[in-house]
Amino acid sequence: MSMFEDIPVDVGVIYEGERIRRKNMQVELGGPKQETKFELVRAKKMDEVEDEKITIIGPDLKDLAEGSSVPFGIYIEIAGKNVEEDLEGVTERRIHEYCNFIEGIMHLNQRYDIWMRLSKKSFKKGLNSFTHIGKVLARLYKSELPFIEKIQITFITDPEKIKEMSKQALEIYEARDAKARGMKDEEVDTFYGCTLCQSFAPTHMCVITPQRYSNCGSISWFDGRASAQVDPKGPVFAIEKGELLDPEKGEFSGINESIKQKTLGAVDKVWMYTGFGYPHTSCGCFEAMAFYIPEVEGYGIVDRGFKGVTVNGLPFSTLADSGAGGRQVDGFHGISIEYMRSPKFMQADGGWDRIVWMPASVKERVKEFMPKEAVVATENEAKTVDELKVFLKEHSHPIVQQWKEAPVEVTPTAEGEEAMEAAAFPVSTATVAAGGFRIIFKNAKIHAEKVIIKRVDKAKR
Ligand code: SF4
Repeated sequence: MSMFEDIPVDVGVIYEGERIRRKNMQVELGGPKQETKFELVRAKKMDEVEDEKITIIGPDLKDLAEGSSVPFGIYIEIAGKNVEEDLEGVTERRIHEYCNFIEGIMHLNQRYDIWMRLSKKSFKKGLNSFTHIGKVLARLYKSELPFIEKIQITFITDPEKIKEMSKQALEIYEARDAKARGMKDEEVDTFYGCTLCQSFAPTHMCVITPQRYSNCGSISWFDGRASAQVDPKGPVFAIEKGELLDPEKGEFSGINESIKQKTLGAVDKVWMYTGFGYPHTSCGCFEAMAFYIPEVEGYGIVDRGFKGVTVNGLPFSTLADSGAGGRQVDGFHGISIEYMRSPKFMQADGGWDRIVWMPASVKERVKEFMPKEAVVATENEAKTVDELKVFLKEHSHPIVQQWKEAPVEVTPTAEGEEAMEAAAFPVSTATVAAGGFRIIFKNAKIHAEKVIIKRVDKAKR
């Protein structure tokens, strides 16, 4: 029976992490096949929001062809006496969590990059309208985030409307991101942590500082502060910086204590500004992956939107899967695009002097923030590592001087769409607690059709 009587499918945390393969999907909303997609939350005045109103612009779920992939947008307006603009980012990030509570819905990524699937099974059960999804979201939002007093939700599948609204959404994301630029980590006593991705990556915790944006690129230091103020026991919380143990690498005693506690001891040390040693953990929602290229001793960067293969012959999906899951993997480092604009970006590794390759579209997005002398090849200058070596030599990249040292070995894993999904649903370290014991599976990938948990009869035992 459903948690909500008027909703045809079940709703609950047990559905988080549910994967819907292409062959089992009724319809795909957004995702890699669609250029335009977005999700956006805006803070509004009380009289601007009609509580629990659900609007659909374009074809509804039941009108979309089975197996099709369509452009998609979710626009949520919230109001309440404590609702403020700084709460938009964290409220928006909850779309991911709450959609995944719905049986037969898979939601991945964030902002301009959302990817949803509806399963055939849930469609057949009657989940054939966005109205059902809207009702669930509205109820969960109001019960989980009490600062939301009124909420109205619009689902958009009309391509023209999506184009128009996604343009506005991009401007709003940029304004949010720009707010923390110029602030320094040294200027604050408190950082913020987020464990929203632990349902997929149990040993992951984002540490959000003014100069290191969250991996998903959706939660700034200001967003973290606003969220921790209204919901201090929620998944976004304050971290006292504590003692600065290493200014170059970015090690703080407060961060170490916090991650140790939040990951049940699986991770006990984090260096914020490096991809080696004890790097910030990578979940599966990162916007981009920094990957070490041993042949040139520099980092390549690839974002989720890059469709081709990178300079080392591997696509985003494979590289993402190599570092995802809450792990600290040397040379595979999940990052946000906004972190690339930070003066502390990969500081301990040499910053921009260590970056050698990235897609032209990413370079365009961050070029204003790159040092003038930075030399970075794109797919237009180097398609292979050999071409990259020539480019770096010809342009006197600072890394060339270090080429005498021995390269570091790194090993990537799976490929293709499966890997893309796997990166978002990894089980690198799963913790199971029962009967006074805790079993930790490290770097395991487990497939089970069904998990049965039975109470053990003491007499029989
Ligand atoms: S990527 Fe980080 S900040 Fe973003 S939702 Fe996941 S844990 Fe939170």
